[in-house]
Amino acid sequence: MKKALIMLGCVLGLHTFSFAQEIPVKGFAVMEPGFEFQPYEFTRHAVGNDEIQIEIMYCGICHSDLHEARQDWMEEHYPLVPGHEIAGRVVKVGKNVTKFEVGDFAGVGCIVNSCHTCDECNHNREQYCPKMVSTYNSVDYYHDGEITQGGYSNTIVVSQDYALRIPDGADMKRVAPLLCAGITTYSPIRFAGVKSGDRVGIAGFGGLGHMAVQYAVALGAKVTVFDITEEKRDDALRMGAVRYVNVNRPEELEGLNGMFDFILSTIPAPYDMSMYLRMLDFGGQFGIVGVPAFKEIPNLTLDQFIWNGGRKVFGSMIGGIRETQEMLDYSVAHGIYPEVEIIKADAAIIGEAYQNVLDGKVKFRYVIDMSTIK
Ligand SMILES: [Zn+2]
Ligand SMILES: [Zn+2]
Repeated sequence: MKKALIMLGCVLGLHTFSFAQEIPVKGFAVMEPGFEFQPYEFTRHAVGNDEIQIEIMYCGICHSDLHEARQDWMEEHYPLVPGHEIAGRVVKVGKNVTKFEVGDFAGVGCIVNSCHTCDECNHNREQYCPKMVSTYNSVDYYHDGEITQGGYSNTIVVSQDYALRIPDGADMKRVAPLLCAGITTYSPIRFAGVKSGDRVGIAGFGGLGHMAVQYAVALGAKVTVFDITEEKRDDALRMGAVRYVNVNRPEELEGLNGMFDFILSTIPAPYDMSMYLRMLDFGGQFGIVGVPAFKEIPNLTLDQFIWNGGRKVFGSMIGGIRETQEMLDYSVAHGIYPEVEIIKADAAIIGEAYQNVLDGKVKFRYVIDMSTIK
């Protein structure tokens, strides 16, 4: 019916019909599993009464974008436009919008909608809502089942309830990755109750890990960083870690069993989970946010929980909208930002960046300057 009306509108030249005003978008997509990006033009639904349109200024490249582009986790929809670390400026507001005005800075993270009625939604944990809509590659139950497309594009339409206010004075070039890398680490660190003096381990020192280190240090924890390279040792110490452990050097692991109150794993590749479990003190917690490809996902066996009894393991997925706003305000107020490398909005450059992320060559987050899109 909607299609027929739009067609009628076109035939009659009635372009003023608001329902017909789909928004043309320029972006970058992979057309099949892999890292081969190409320019891709598509449309977004018109700005609804409770929605805003954001002109995207910057979009971060998250490690999950790589997993999704090459279909490491689940069946994907192609063409696929990734990107869930979005920062920009509001260019249009629907008539019921009260949270934003045209010209405000706004962000979008990993979630663009949820049901508003389930127990998770009622407790500000929209990320666990069974009808949550992800920012890209997700069926949008609330817009005729359209497939969402992400922030490697010049504009996005989102409900005001799922857009974040970017505080005045924020560094726009660096703020975007907070919307995923920031909240994904802030939330479990808060959940674990990390406090001053706690012995905290951060396993995996990439985009997520370097945010986790900054939050844990800001809370007064004594932070140890675990990674598999020498190249990041100085960076970890510069960011306030008291110790850096190169896991490929077994001698550096000696004496660490039972020495931690909390360890957060951000590792996106296969690894030995039991090694980290052994490093927890009694009552210690192991938080997991990194998700390797499903075909090579690491496991803990039942007996390892028994041999390491009294240690708790929990997973965590991003964070709710309220907590994301809290994280943004906290980060900007404390000057906590990712270290970023800004790249041009160009298909070949994005593809190269993906390869570098995969090879661990980025320090620490690529951010695409969407204003350079041609
Ligand atoms: Zn992400
Ligand atoms: Zn819900």
